[in-house]
Amino acid sequence: MPSPAGWREVPCIECGRFVAGIDFVERCPECLERRKQRAGRLASRAAIVATILVSAWIFWRTPNTALARWYAGIGIGATYFLVRLITKRIAMEVLP
Ligand SMILES: [Zn+2]
Repeated sequence: MPSPAGWREVPCIECGRFVAGIDFVERCPECLERRKQRAGRLASRAAIVATILVSAWIFWRTPNTALARWYAGIGIGATYFLVRLITKRIAMEVLP
């Protein structure tokens, strides 16, 4: 949400620098970018760990047929993608 007319510059909630074009409880573009990078790193680590666990489970538990291997591949890819997406969203909200 843009600042209302008349409010020229508003302090960033994280670094306290006065920046134009943000709302009162928002971060400045630099803090937001830094937060996105941290969340992205965390999300990608969590996704790799989850993918390894799911791969191990699939390796031990699924029958060794062509169809099962196709579904396993799709499942492993989906696990990485979804865990990364969800963890990033949560990290953007929760990170200090
Ligand atoms: Zn800031």
